[in-house]
Amino acid sequence: MTQTAIIVGAGLGGLAAARGLEAAGWQVRVLESAQEARALGAGITVTGNGLAALDELGVGDAVRERAVRALPEGILTDQGSPLQQQLQADSSAVHAIHRATLHEILRGDREIETGMRVVSGTDASGGGRASVTIEHGAADPDSSDARSERERRKDRARGTKLGRRIHRALEPGDEPIDRKAESRASKAQVRAVEDARFETLEADLVVGADGIDSAVRQALWPKARTDYSGATAWLGVVQAEADSPAGPRMYLGRGAEFGMEPIDGGRVYWWGMSFARMGRRADDEIVAALAQFDDWAPEVRDHIAATPQAGIIRRDLFSLATRLRSYHRPGVVLVGDAAHAMLPTLGQGGNASFEDAATLGILLGDHSLDQALLEYDRERVARTQRFMTISERLARTNTRMRNPLLVAARNGLLNLTPELATEIAGDWMLAWHSPRHTS
Ligand SMILES: Cc1cc2nc3c(=O)[nH]c(=O)nc-3n(C[C@H](O)[C@H](O)[C@H](O)COP(=O)(O)OP(=O)(O)OC[C@H]3O[C@@H](n4cnc5c(N)ncnc54)[C@H](O)[C@@H]3O)c2cc1C
Repeated sequence: MTQTAIIVGAGLGGLAAARGLEAAGWQVRVLESAQEARALGAGITVTGNGLAALDELGVGDAVRERAVRALPEGILTDQGSPLQQQLQADSSAVHAIHRATLHEILRGDREIETGMRVVSGTDASGGGRASVTIEHGAADPDSSDARSERERRKDRARGTKLGRRIHRALEPGDEPIDRKAESRASKAQVRAVEDARFETLEADLVVGADGIDSAVRQALWPKARTDYSGATAWLGVVQAEADSPAGPRMYLGRGAEFGMEPIDGGRVYWWGMSFARMGRRADDEIVAALAQFDDWAPEVRDHIAATPQAGIIRRDLFSLATRLRSYHRPGVVLVGDAAHAMLPTLGQGGNASFEDAATLGILLGDHSLDQALLEYDRERVARTQRFMTISERLARTNTRMRNPLLVAARNGLLNLTPELATEIAGDWMLAWHSPRHTS
């Protein structure tokens, strides 16, 4: 009998997982909380390991065809003087691509069930199947109506609490409505809860691909915590200019880094990260980014200034502070940021999610479900947590390094952390070994 999976989240990791599972003969449903399935963000760098996993998922050539392949240009000071030449080995070439293009490739003609916000989940430890509970009609926190939805929720805070109780009473075997809760709720509150419409769906496997704030993880790994990195990021995409780089280039300054690289469509993706208090927002983020990188090399300012007003994105950077010992529970598995959200300093979060997806697909094709999930941990936990550790250490030498003396020492040597450089340059990182070849 065909086994069924529910994939929670239609980001890059969820769409990649859908491909992996289907290749293993599973029947897949992809649920997405947003009203429209889309890629948030600007560009993404796919490294050799990620591309190998995308090959396994059947889309490597489509990515090669559309992405810009380039060798990293190296690291410069904030004024544009060379600090470190990047490795020019062919294996260090990257494929840079707009996220929307990659999302489109991974999605293909797949149907995504949008407007399906998962609010909780259960594993299969009670003998039944794993399940997720959907709240239909909940607003997507990233959409333009998010503020009004948040305010609406605040206004009916008490109603929401009652809503949860009423919702719990809708579990199988319960009275359809918790009468006690209902009697204390106003008619409007009960209506608000009913409008939200909860529904429970079961499957042989639930894949939590719902990002750093994963509802699946919160339900089954409730102690896991995320952490603010102390840095914010501005991201943008512009048409390439005469002073645009031919490959990924990074500038390091005091408590900040700036990077840019060519992507598909004759465009350049740029990102600027800097030390900042959490939650700060400006009326005009282009002005704010220009102020942050005001005295940097002219091409840095040019690229920010060329960004269309509606095209700049600002995101505070978080990571998963808790290292999960296992990425699975009976009938439930986490992939991508839900399992191992890391800081973007190493550029491996997305690549790791492609590896997760390809690994999971191969293991599910070769083993029973329980065995596959055990093997998945063996393949994924140590490797992805090594990525997390290095990303964290890199953050210390860029956005968290604000002392001018240390910055000067870093710039003078850039081998201030030789172990770190060796780790990053090591073949282990850019080589993903498919379990197909090791089993
Ligand atoms: C500034 C920046 C630059 C980066 N650069 C790179 C890079 O160059 N290379 C690289 O490899 N990685 C990079 N990363 C990391 C990479 O973006 C992430 O690791 C990757 O996008 C994670 O994909 P995901 O599918 O796991 O999660 P997400 O992309 O967060 O997708 C989760 C999906 O689940 C949906 N969802 C969330 N909650 C629910 C719910 N309750 N119910 C249903 N659906 C839900 C969301 O709407 C979303 O569609 C970068 C990250 C940042 C912040």
